[in-house]
Amino acid sequence: MPFVDLAAQFASISGELQETTHTVLSSTDYILGREVEAFEDEFAAYCGAQHGIGVDSGTSALELALRACGIGAGDEVITAANTFIATCLAISYTGATPVLVDVDPETFAIDVSRVAQAITPRTAAIIPVHLYGQPADMDPILELARRHGLRVIEDACQAHGARYKGRRVGSLGDAAAFSFYPAKNLGGYGDGGMVVTDDDRVADVVRMLRNYGQRAKYEHVVAGFNRRLDSLQAGLLRVKLRYLDAWNAARRDHAEMYRRLLADTAVMTPVQAEYAEAVWHLYVVRCGDRARVRTALERAGIATMIHYPIPVHLQRASPEIGCVHGDLPITERLANEILSLPMYAELSPAQVEHVAETLAEVAR
Ligand SMILES: *Cc1c(COP(=O)(O)O)cnc(C)c1O
Repeated sequence: MPFVDLAAQFASISGELQETTHTVLSSTDYILGREVEAFEDEFAAYCGAQHGIGVDSGTSALELALRACGIGAGDEVITAANTFIATCLAISYTGATPVLVDVDPETFAIDVSRVAQAITPRTAAIIPVHLYGQPADMDPILELARRHGLRVIEDACQAHGARYKGRRVGSLGDAAAFSFYPAKNLGGYGDGGMVVTDDDRVADVVRMLRNYGQRAKYEHVVAGFNRRLDSLQAGLLRVKLRYLDAWNAARRDHAEMYRRLLADTAVMTPVQAEYAEAVWHLYVVRCGDRARVRTALERAGIATMIHYPIPVHLQRASPEIGCVHGDLPITERLANEILSLPMYAELSPAQVEHVAETLAEVAR
């Protein structure tokens, strides 16, 4: 059984995708344009936000959102230690310094009390990461940010459609970044991303920054970038957006089944916080003796992954983070115990049951 099965998803909607491909290719409108505008409006509305600005990746969405919030050299940006490295790279690209804080071992969400401790006079923003599709606890983060005059940018790259106290992620902070990397809950057929925000000024600046700093054609008011979303991806993502809620509901059913079947076994299942409706981008369990468990699953034909095996602060690429082994003990411990099980909408209940029963058996 594969870890994700993009072929199964493609097969289920290939007719619509082919029709859209033909429409976009014959329109000769390939970069930004009508499809991108329509997708921006639809996705922003889906998130309950005013503006969507399509960009070329989730990493760009994070970077441009930070820049539009005025973050740059000399600033510190606090984020979760157990994230994908792109969160930290985006901070570094702006010239700011990433400051990592440890997480809750049960929900994997950023630990708000540690965020409070990490605030210094240079802190300018917080990036809560809705990791694995589960929202971070936003209210205390927003309250902390308000008290200290900080911006909040949600890293929602794994959480399309997730809800926090009934509200969709993407509408909670000053801005949010989404990725449309193919394997995300809403994924394109190439790279893509979006900044979602209610802030008119942030939206304006991101719109300029992604397109050479243009305000009008050939009038460049800031030194921007080429970070645009293309029309074909937008068209294909519009098709897939119509299925997102159904796909997320299927993921929730699978997660519930995993939880039930793995209760009272040697495997620890992830805890859904009481404020959250998670969309289970990844279903991450914890177990002892992970290497052996993983090999046994592989022998049984079940693919698993580890998200992530080396924490960001211990990567050779991140010396400027200035942390060493032992500085972020929960994240470091999790990195040795976590195991991501197969999770995608097209899994059948029988497959979920097979994974859970095999895992319970081999983890004993
Ligand atoms: C995927 C991801 C990103 C980066 O998105 P790209 O589209 O790959 O640039 C950032 N943060 C998190 C948490 C992600 O999962």
